[in-house]
Amino acid sequence: MIKENKRYNHISQYLKEKFGERTLKICVDGGFSCPNRDGTLSNGGCIYCSLKGSGELICSANNITEQVKYYFTTYRSNRANKFIVYFQNFTNTYDTVENLKQKYDSALIDNRIVGLAIGTRPDCITEEIAQLLKNYTEKYYVCVELGLQTSNDDIGEKINRCYTSKQFTSAVSILNKYGIDVVAHIMVGLPFETSEDIKNTVDFINSHPLQGVKIHSTYVVEHTKLAEMYEKGEYQPLSFEEYMQDLIYIISHLKPDFVIHRISGDAPKDILLAPSWNTHKKWVLNELNRRLKEQDLWQGKFYNV
Ligand code: SF4
Repeated sequence: MIKENKRYNHISQYLKEKFGERTLKICVDGGFSCPNRDGTLSNGGCIYCSLKGSGELICSANNITEQVKYYFTTYRSNRANKFIVYFQNFTNTYDTVENLKQKYDSALIDNRIVGLAIGTRPDCITEEIAQLLKNYTEKYYVCVELGLQTSNDDIGEKINRCYTSKQFTSAVSILNKYGIDVVAHIMVGLPFETSEDIKNTVDFINSHPLQGVKIHSTYVVEHTKLAEMYEKGEYQPLSFEEYMQDLIYIISHLKPDFVIHRISGDAPKDILLAPSWNTHKKWVLNELNRRLKEQDLWQGKFYNV
């Protein structure tokens, strides 16, 4: 059981224990595209995907090395001594192995960098890519964040995800084979999603050998298909209360040893259409902690093997 003062495994605590001190992420834009945006699978992308592929909050520059160098000139870099480079936006394994190596290497330029985190989609993981990532594990902590969003493939189709949950399972198995940590990215409040879908998604991720999970509340940003649906009244995002209820369910049913990397979306304010509460990450965090305590819940309290 997770202790009273630690009702869920939070990433910051996990990193502190792993590296012996506070460890922060440096988000970089690797200049990648996505097969779901460049016409290979589709042109439109997932219906919620923003023009920057969810990388609006990254201080972007063309050159990866320059981005990392720039980060170390900012006040944020004074808040820790250890860092993980995080390739966040678009699909960060969507290139040749040679180009991937060149891009990852160009970020690993400072002795304070102890890890490499890669955000990607399951259909862009191959044995060769896993082998490349494995090579970095000799010197760095390596972790792959895999999109899943939902285990319901019908919803997957409706949101134009263009991969299946079976492909997610295959990618996890390849990465596991090479000893690489996998974090599943799930979304709550997707169009057409029911409470049953959320339960099934939790059961689905619990059945995989993962290191952690990112829980992301669905939000609507400009210039997306979801924005069109929202403006036509065809989609309504979750209220804060609805999201809290879902979040409580997920955490109390989640495998106790998963590390929780995120508990809400991180919507860029300037392009956010709805819901407005999404910009207040602290509200979610504080309310979650309050409710877990009040209801005497903790991560995995209702997890069944
Ligand atoms: S997989 Fe990611 S980058 Fe590609 S379209 Fe979907 S959200 Fe955007």
